[in-house]
Amino acid sequence: MTGRSCPGLPTWGHTAGVNELPSAAVLVVEDDADLGRMLVRLLTGAGYAPTLAPDGQQGLHLGLTRGWDAMVIDRGLPAVEGLDLLRALRRRGIRTPVLVLSARGTPAERVQGLDAGAEDYLAKPFDVEELLARVRALLRRHLDSAPSLMLGSARLDVEARVVVDAAGRETALSERESTLLATLATRPEQVFTRRDLLTRVFDDADSESVVDTYVHYCRRKLGRGVIRTVHGLGYRCGEL
Ligand code: CA
Repeated sequence: MTGRSCPGLPTWGHTAGVNELPSAAVLVVEDDADLGRMLVRLLTGAGYAPTLAPDGQQGLHLGLTRGWDAMVIDRGLPAVEGLDLLRALRRRGIRTPVLVLSARGTPAERVQGLDAGAEDYLAKPFDVEELLARVRALLRRHLDSAPSLMLGSARLDVEARVVVDAAGRETALSERESTLLATLATRPEQVFTRRDLLTRVFDDADSESVVDTYVHYCRRKLGRGVIRTVHGLGYRCGEL
């Protein structure tokens, strides 16, 4: 974690109504119905957009098919255990920061959770303010991890605004080009609408055509494959 901020990337407040950007999407995987409802209420109250998956299979499906800003995963789940779910997501390239909740909080179990790919681990029962503070930290980490992102085999260095391909060749980017590619690469599975990208990258500039213009600039520098067009929907991360 670098602690550096990424100019132009969205920053999320945790107070509803203060923030004009879309709420951070948080996937909650929890089989205990009461606790699941409580987590959804808590996260909604904090201004996030949580979605509850009641078991590991649905958690895996949602984790792979939609873009998330953070995930809260219960360790003890039926069918697919929480850490197996987490490992499956990591194996498939999902880098969304994850907080694991567990009734077991010994140091050895905590290490298992971190080794499985969790950023953080919180034992039940937990204090709600502590949970929210940990989620805020995950969301900051989500953005701070952006300075090095992958575009297939090429690496995007957001801070240096440069793409380094597998052969070591460097291509310099403008700030907007870099932020556009970083936004797509932070959630490689997600299709972004032009409206999403206008909000996140271009500060709600007047016309969605500015998005197409910058997609064109990126492709001209890096090749058509760097951004994929999803017809009728928008754009998603491509590969170099
Ligand atoms: Ca459970």
